[in-house]
Amino acid sequence: MPETLTLSPDHAGIARAAALLGAGELVAFPTETVYGLGADAGDDRAVARIFAAKDRPRFNPLIAHLPDAVAAGAIGVLDDAAARLASAFWPGPLTLVVALRAGAPVSPLVTAGLETVALRVPAHPVARDLLAAFGGALAAPSANPSGRVSPTTAAHVRDGLGGRIAAVIDGGPCAVGLESTIVATTGGAARLLRPGGLPAEAIEDCLGAPLAIEAPAGAPTAPGQLASHYAPGARLRLDVGTPEPGEVWIGFGPGCAGAALNLSGGGDMVEAAANLFAMLRAADALAGPGGRIAAAPVPDRGLGRAINDRLARAAAPRP
Ligand code: AMP
Ligand code: MG
Repeated sequence: MPETLTLSPDHAGIARAAALLGAGELVAFPTETVYGLGADAGDDRAVARIFAAKDRPRFNPLIAHLPDAVAAGAIGVLDDAAARLASAFWPGPLTLVVALRAGAPVSPLVTAGLETVALRVPAHPVARDLLAAFGGALAAPSANPSGRVSPTTAAHVRDGLGGRIAAVIDGGPCAVGLESTIVATTGGAARLLRPGGLPAEAIEDCLGAPLAIEAPAGAPTAPGQLASHYAPGARLRLDVGTPEPGEVWIGFGPGCAGAALNLSGGGDMVEAAANLFAMLRAADALAGPGGRIAAAPVPDRGLGRAINDRLARAAAPRP
């Protein structure tokens, strides 16, 4: 494949990206969560290219991105709970897993052959422009090689996938910086499949009921088993109040004077989430080959739950 094009988020860039997607190519684009690696969700070969470009070992299901809830409802059945969450939080960092509509124009590679489908309406203006120009559903996992840190800038995408995808639209850094929260509403009570950029508490307030917690499809299910994911090259130690000599310390809050990096000096969760993946990359670069990173504790509430989930996976033993 020739060089990966970097496209501007203007009319010409979006039109070029939509044409590439229509031809079955892969185009990375910004969303408010992280950069997504987009493919025509109705084109089996295009979706298969996602797995090849990311070097994903398994065909786990992908999120279909849509311009609005009406388009989402043409692919999945939005039950009462899903419809309520969609009207409260779309567009935004929420993915809903609902029943797949019979005959929906979605490749079975997107659903991994399941009877359910994961749907999201992103809020980022560039993602919305691209979806409007493309005129269909885009399957889009994060635009990084499998298991590595998710990209929050176009430069991160080029670092990981340059030469393996047709283009990336440069829309600047992502505002949320964490993947979407995933909630399944099929078969009764709503379940949290993945904490993410929309705090679970906000979802529970909207539904007026607590969320059960469940592993997503394709996730390891043995108790205590934590998949290595979002992993930097360096080893990562968690909950570190006092780093050891040689460790690159990623702090959180005002009590971490001397940290090489701080997710948020003022202890702001939104700022910390937006900085997380870029700082994991920066710490990796500072630590160097075989180096070590230490992360300060982050309170486990609101966005902190998603931040801690990503840190725990980044620290998990590598396969
Ligand atoms: P990613 O595309 O890398 O952000 O990951 C998408 C996540 O959504 C994965 O953890 C999937 O297992 C989960 N997912 C997607 N579709 C479904 C589905 N139909 N049922 C359950 N989980 C899903
Ligand atoms: Mg990912």
